[in-house]
Amino acid sequence: MSVTTEIMLESINPATGEIVGSVPITPTAAIAGIVEKARTAQKSWNALGLEGRHALMQPIANRLAEEAPKIGKLITAEMGKSTPEAQGEASYTADKFATELEDAAAAFAPEIIEDENVKSTLYRDPLGVSAAITPWNFPELMPQQCILPSLVAGNTVVFKPSEDTPLTGQAYADVLNEFLPEGVLQVVHGADDQGKKLVASDINLVTFVGSRDVGAKILTACAPELKRVILELGGKDALIVLADADIEAAASFAVQNSFRNSGQVCVSTERVYVDEKIADEFEELVIAKTKEWKQGDPTDETVKVGPMVHSTQRDLVLEQLNGAIEDGAQLRCGGGTHDNYIEPTVLTNCTHDMRIMHDETFGPICCIQRFSGDDEAIALANETPYGLGGAVFGKTEHAIKVARQLTPGMVGINKACGGAQGTPWVGACQSGYGYHSGRDGHRQFTQVRMVSVPKQIVKPKY
Ligand code: NAD
Repeated sequence: MSVTTEIMLESINPATGEIVGSVPITPTAAIAGIVEKARTAQKSWNALGLEGRHALMQPIANRLAEEAPKIGKLITAEMGKSTPEAQGEASYTADKFATELEDAAAAFAPEIIEDENVKSTLYRDPLGVSAAITPWNFPELMPQQCILPSLVAGNTVVFKPSEDTPLTGQAYADVLNEFLPEGVLQVVHGADDQGKKLVASDINLVTFVGSRDVGAKILTACAPELKRVILELGGKDALIVLADADIEAAASFAVQNSFRNSGQVCVSTERVYVDEKIADEFEELVIAKTKEWKQGDPTDETVKVGPMVHSTQRDLVLEQLNGAIEDGAQLRCGGGTHDNYIEPTVLTNCTHDMRIMHDETFGPICCIQRFSGDDEAIALANETPYGLGGAVFGKTEHAIKVARQLTPGMVGINKACGGAQGTPWVGACQSGYGYHSGRDGHRQFTQVRMVSVPKQIVKPKY
């Protein structure tokens, strides 16, 4: 008889400091065996065929919808997301399961391309075993982005949720595992040691959502064996408010997109550039709207901003905030802090000499800088190694003209950066290496292979 003592990973509520629950940490020595089990399971999972997998996964969307209220509560408890936003994430994830399942299945169907001489069929085969390594800020939606298309493609998945939100990750996997055969989706719990071991194990694809720095480490670790990677990384999104913008709408957007989820969103507005002609009015509106944002206990349904995920993240944000003020930014409202909370804060007179205008902040700070002329706005917005999302507010044609000169993968005109159903979620520059969703995003979970047959015997031309 062997006796093992499990070491537990505790999930701490950032609003109260209480333990939400705990999961056993996966010993790094166990990871090779977990991956081997996934490889064995992959054979029969692939043998089900695309239609078989699609049929088996279809009922999952309804079960996720049934579990959404519970999972939403868990999200709030584990990382402090306000109740409306956490419930929104859980029900959106369930809805999205249904649409992404259809999109992925369509993307993986064989494709025929022919000319007068040759008929070629493109097959999209699974890669094998994939690792899904995910962050805490959207602890249900981000795992789904990495897991769902991989499973539909015929890969099996070893999933490592963030060490800050293990219970939400486990709850999501538990719903899927009510339907999936044994070994098709397994969960590994832990932090970077478990992540590194998983990346180094016998896997074929790493799908990662997280910071740029960890993404770069994963890319390096995958290089020797040319393992496939899909990396969705951080951002430093700009909002440009042109002189002909609807100022009220632009100010509402600036506030909403700077403070939702306490600014802990990869596509948060991290920098606002406003035309000097309308800057006074815009700034006053932003300040007035910010004061309406109620902060506090995230289980209170009327609260819009909860705490930061933990004290480390709070300290990083405060360091940038204080540095900006020392460097000449004007604190126009907010700036207070207690426990893990940082008040929604507005800074004006920001410049690119400040760290807060370059590094990802990931906190509830709205940083405003004025510009003179579109060319200056474009140059400022593009002065970043990141390229995830962005927004331009102005008359549509004018705003599109500006948007086409920006470097991010996704730009919204008078709206947030997300696109229509079926479009990719794509980071450019150092915000992404590969991408998710849409036909081409889903296809990155597969290897294309082609078989060509002659339609007629053609004599070689030379
Ligand atoms: P993080 O990079 O610190 O951690 C992400 C995951 O990687 C965690 O599960 C962590 O345990 C694991 N990990 C850490 N070191 C590792 C290593 N060396 N090898 C393998 N795995 C390792 O990110 P975070 O703090 O959890 O999340 C915040 C970041 O995620 C922000 O930068 C944010 O912009 C980004 N993000 C991006 C998107 C997007 O769509 N582009 C979406 C959400 C979040």
